[in-house]
Amino acid sequence: MTSPSTTGFRLAAWYTGLFLVSTIGLIGLCYALLASSLQQRDQEIIASSMSRYLSEYRRSGLEGLDRVIASDAQASQHERLLVRVVDRGAAALFVSMPADWRGIDITTLDRAGEETGFVVIEGIGSDASLEVQSVRFRDGTLFQVGKSTENRREILRRFRTIVGWIVIPALVVALIGGSFLTSRALRPVRELTETVQEIVRTGRLATRVPVRQSGDPLDELSSLFNGMLDRIESLMGAMRGSLDNVAHDLRTPMTRLRNVAEAALQGPDDRESYREALADCLEESERVVAMLSTLMDISEAETGSMQLALESVPVRAILDEAREMYADLAEEKQVKLSVDAPVDVTVTADPNRLRQVIFNLVDNAVKYTNAGGEVVLTVTTEGDAVLIRVRDTGIGIPAHEVSRIWDRLYRGDKSRSERGLGLGLSLVKAIIQAHGGTVEVQSAPGEGTTIELRLPVAPSTGHSAPHLAPST
Ligand code: ADP
Repeated sequence: MTSPSTTGFRLAAWYTGLFLVSTIGLIGLCYALLASSLQQRDQEIIASSMSRYLSEYRRSGLEGLDRVIASDAQASQHERLLVRVVDRGAAALFVSMPADWRGIDITTLDRAGEETGFVVIEGIGSDASLEVQSVRFRDGTLFQVGKSTENRREILRRFRTIVGWIVIPALVVALIGGSFLTSRALRPVRELTETVQEIVRTGRLATRVPVRQSGDPLDELSSLFNGMLDRIESLMGAMRGSLDNVAHDLRTPMTRLRNVAEAALQGPDDRESYREALADCLEESERVVAMLSTLMDISEAETGSMQLALESVPVRAILDEAREMYADLAEEKQVKLSVDAPVDVTVTADPNRLRQVIFNLVDNAVKYTNAGGEVVLTVTTEGDAVLIRVRDTGIGIPAHEVSRIWDRLYRGDKSRSERGLGLGLSLVKAIIQAHGGTVEVQSAPGEGTTIELRLPVAPSTGHSAPHLAPST
């Protein structure tokens, strides 16, 4: 139910108020026009009768006047009129009026003679007045023709009654219609409020606002709100997933650390075994620290708080560094590692971060490629973008894993036996995005994988994430 403080109620009240004011204004105007045209019509009747009776009076005197009035009455040519002739001494020479006016005190009409034009004498009947036109001759004789306003008052009274019968139902219809229309128009807002209340009450982000696809702006707002909920829900899901993964991945090294310490305490009391245990503990704790600092790097890059020391970086130099760095490992695995890049391609980036990205990708490519395979690093330009690709002929990534490899701590089924934290690609993506770039993967199981980095030649400072530090 709409309460007086709500927008719906206020809109309905405004709608009804405006409707009422404009209806009353329109009817008032019609009423005034009708009243004035009825009055004009009466005065025209009086004036034309006056001129006919006057000319007859002048031609044939009172007798002629009597005759023409009688013949008019017989022909009921005109509405009922009063005709009065009074001599200079105020003695009525002639009076003609309808029979039912006989009781009227017509001496009041003498007053009308002092005025020119039309004069209304009130109170000749219960509800009527008399409108009189007077002409005074030079000899003092007064000639008057009058007409009752009874007919026109009756017409106006009927008009008022009819208007009353129309306006009251119209007002009710306007009130009900206004409330219905505003309540209908505000339905999306109500549904939006209900959805928000539901989410606040239950904490369930799965609730959605019903959308009608009507193209209405309020409906569009509902769609946008649902879109926002989808986004929040997926972000929350991803956060929860990351948190679960972090908890899970921390538990393993922490348990191992605890077990090593426990075994050392329960074992033989000699210096050598303590040293061995401490070395194991150190290794495990380094693993935990590496994991935590990579996680922090990823969050910094994602939230834009990572400081990027931007400078013009020759890409080929970094690719060559990566090849040298992984040459031994590649040789050991019998994987051919090569760089295919023109010398002059440069990109504006933080060289240390770009190095970290390329090393991570080459590390993966060599790690997931079997003996006899090949890893090729290339760089090309395409319009305003620099494309860096790391292509391998390795084990490839199954289709169902492709969308997940960028998630924090995600590791493919086949990679569990390899060393790694499952954070490399998350860091690659976050750093490249912080530079205003994008990452893409193409992979076919058994055939190989290509990771493509697309970097703008000069990253725009308006990019949402990065806080760029000046190059030093
Ligand atoms: P990891 O430490 O497991 O290598 P990453 O984040 O670097 O973590 O990669 C996530 C997952 O993506 C890996 O576990 C692996 O399944 C898959 N992956 C990444 N690079 C490759 C590649 N070049 N070839 C095949 N699979 C890959």
